[in-house]
Amino acid sequence: MADAARQLEERLHEVRERMAQAAQAAGRKPDEVLLCAACKSQPRELILASAALDIDCFGENRMQEMLPNLESGVYLDKPCHFIGHLQRNKVRRVVGAASMIQSVNSLRLLQAIHAEALRQGIRQDILLEINIDQEESKTGADEAQLWPLMEACAELPQVRLRGLMSMPWLQEEDGRAAFARMRLLYERARPLAPEPAHFDTLSMGMTDSYEAAILEGATLVRVGSGIYGPRQT
Ligand SMILES: *Cc1c(COP(=O)(O)O)cnc(C)c1O
Repeated sequence: MADAARQLEERLHEVRERMAQAAQAAGRKPDEVLLCAACKSQPRELILASAALDIDCFGENRMQEMLPNLESGVYLDKPCHFIGHLQRNKVRRVVGAASMIQSVNSLRLLQAIHAEALRQGIRQDILLEINIDQEESKTGADEAQLWPLMEACAELPQVRLRGLMSMPWLQEEDGRAAFARMRLLYERARPLAPEPAHFDTLSMGMTDSYEAAILEGATLVRVGSGIYGPRQT
């Protein structure tokens, strides 16, 4: 564990350093970009150790991992975001538990989240997940769906639309093109958001792409193996 803890610190230090360099290269302040630790399938002790370090929030893919992790306090009160595919039959338990649901990709899911938030008497922060490179990636709503989804958000007061999320499939030569397109979409969407002042999150970039994403305007990157090392499967 001592070794694991030291490795964790070293990896995180490198990620933070490269994030800061990318931010500076883009003329941005390093603290404009949040680091979300994608901790799927990591052991609790490692998540707990990382929570004490310099990360801003956690990202969970599975309700079955998130709920026990929340229960046992391993996030040390740092916010936990839901970033995985969300089935509607899990909405009831994810709403209110996740401080943000990043992976909202359909009207039906949006409505289900709203209904549950209403039932609980809360407002649920969400991002709309966009499939920016339609042929390759399998998750997210089509780009054209963004506008009807945003209109729907205006009618659903228990959800608070905070921005956009994407997980593009990156090709070598145009690694940044998909991120640049997301940034444009984000800029176009902001003035149309129900609460533009709270539309402040562009979640994109993972271990192999967070620097490119920051260069193109990401405000939150989701890094897993870069922090925790390769996942055991
Ligand atoms: C696993 C995961 C990440 C992080 O992936 P790494 O390549 O390990 O950094 C980011 N976003 C989502 C939605 C994920 O499922």
